[in-house]
Amino acid sequence: MKEVARKRRLMRPLLIVMSAPSGAGKSTLCDLLLQEFPEITYSVSCTTRAPRGEEEDGVDYFFLSPEDFERHVREGLLLEHAVVHGNHYGTPAGPVREAFAEGQSVLMDIDVAGAEQVRRFVATLPVGDPLRQGFVDVFIEPPSLEELRRRLEGRGEDSRESIELRLHNAAGEMARANEFAYRVVNDDLRQAYLRLRDILLVRGGAL
Ligand code: 5GP
Repeated sequence: MKEVARKRRLMRPLLIVMSAPSGAGKSTLCDLLLQEFPEITYSVSCTTRAPRGEEEDGVDYFFLSPEDFERHVREGLLLEHAVVHGNHYGTPAGPVREAFAEGQSVLMDIDVAGAEQVRRFVATLPVGDPLRQGFVDVFIEPPSLEELRRRLEGRGEDSRESIELRLHNAAGEMARANEFAYRVVNDDLRQAYLRLRDILLVRGGAL
């Protein structure tokens, strides 16, 4: 995508939680944010699912055995965790705290159940806590379930069974969109990105 506007910086760190049904374009929107804002760190999740395609351990995910994942949960190393499409996923707490301590914003790409846990967690923090002040939760919506099916089939990454499971779960996730403070419909990528960017710039004190 071409340069969208004059460069702006976030003036205070944000804890950005983005959720969306699989195939809604969330990963592309996350990549665009990370390209434009070097002050945003991507939170690399742990998962028990197998790597897909070119995915790299420690970059896209930390790929863990079920036993290792369980140990992370037991030792309280995860900020939140959930089962999504039959696999375990969770956010390591340490890197989030470290990034904030350095004044970096954090971008978490997690499901609606994980978003709910983070929302509840930040609500327990003192009002002045930077994690609470910087919390921004955004739900990315596809224009429709039919369009979502077309996109999932088009990307050719998932088996038929996996696509059906993702579509089934999408309906449930979309029913929870109103739990999020912000909702962005990804009908047109550029327009959706500009809306997302504006939300973060306002919340980040840059507009
Ligand atoms: P995928 O397997 O397609 O990479 O991701 C499937 C779903 O798992 C996506 O909706 C993604 O947002 C979610 N997910 C990825 N990492 C985490 C995490 O750390 N916690 C939770 N709760 N969900 C995650």
